[in-house]
Amino acid sequence: MQSRDGGPVTPLGNGSRTATGCVYDPVFLRHSLLGHPERPERLSAVVVALEEAGLWHLLQQVPARPATTEELTSVHPVSYIERVKALGRAGGGHLDPDTYMNRHSYAAAVRAAGGLIDLTLAVSAGQLQNGFGLVRPPGHHAMRTQPMGFCIFNNLALAARAVQRRGDLERLAIVDFDVHHGNGTQDVFAADPMILYISTHQYPHFPGTGRLDECGAGEGAAALVNLPLPAGVGDAGFRALYSEIVLPVLERFQPQLILVSAGYDGHWADPLAGLSLSLAGYVWLSRILTESAERLCEGKIVFTLEGGYDLEVLGAGVANSIKVMLGRSDFSDPLGEARQREPDLTPLIAAAKQLHRLSG
Ligand SMILES: [Zn+2]
Repeated sequence: MQSRDGGPVTPLGNGSRTATGCVYDPVFLRHSLLGHPERPERLSAVVVALEEAGLWHLLQQVPARPATTEELTSVHPVSYIERVKALGRAGGGHLDPDTYMNRHSYAAAVRAAGGLIDLTLAVSAGQLQNGFGLVRPPGHHAMRTQPMGFCIFNNLALAARAVQRRGDLERLAIVDFDVHHGNGTQDVFAADPMILYISTHQYPHFPGTGRLDECGAGEGAAALVNLPLPAGVGDAGFRALYSEIVLPVLERFQPQLILVSAGYDGHWADPLAGLSLSLAGYVWLSRILTESAERLCEGKIVFTLEGGYDLEVLGAGVANSIKVMLGRSDFSDPLGEARQREPDLTPLIAAAKQLHRLSG
């Protein structure tokens, strides 16, 4: 196993309960299609930002080994896996109009999943304090039987299933602050009462799902919270949503591990969407989630990279989130706040409180 620059990496066996882990592999940069917004430069910008901030060497590298077929089939059927593998073997092509593959994509996708599984298992077992999956392709739009929205395998769903199958916890929460609804993650867990999924996302917007009243099925109904947001919602709106809905729901659920679908495409400068978070707003989100993990589940939290299409935002945003995980406060916000008024979320928050039986 080699590091990004070819040197040896520290094996996970030397992990420390106080360490922050990360998953990265150069194969993630080989998944590419000229002109596509989900491009290798996204992840390169993150690595450069981490190196320039002096953070890279502080992270415990977890090798990105390929996920096994057994692991992949915990979420995706064999027929789906075979379809993806066959397209990769044939040199690539489109799985759907948005979701491409080249000849390296299958290797990247299975290593993104396998690496995130191992990082998550290590945090869950207390071998690492917390971690960030610096992976591509992203995962939260990947449904059980359908690739979608740049996503091939649902990395985070596979990691959640791996922890669940190992049997060392009963309740796991997924918080998704990507600007897009994680329809794939919802598809996997909507009927599972042991896995809470909370998503804030611009609506209406791609992929078109995530209405307030999409509340899961059967026993899983209490463990699915969708907060659809009008364009323009930014730092103030997110503070209100998290304080009044997200945190109380987490407190009530009492997760033993928190997984975060971390998309930085809710920033005002992002070219693909219309929310108005600033980098300072993302610091606040990262901090409030990390503090929740400390209060609820011994600090066990794993972020994984989903979207984010402005390279400066993505690099600084991930570096700031990792600083939060490391307990630092030297954050960077070269872009500043959005210059527009935020929409009033009072009616949405009141409706969400009523629907999810939150007092106050
Ligand atoms: Zn997104």
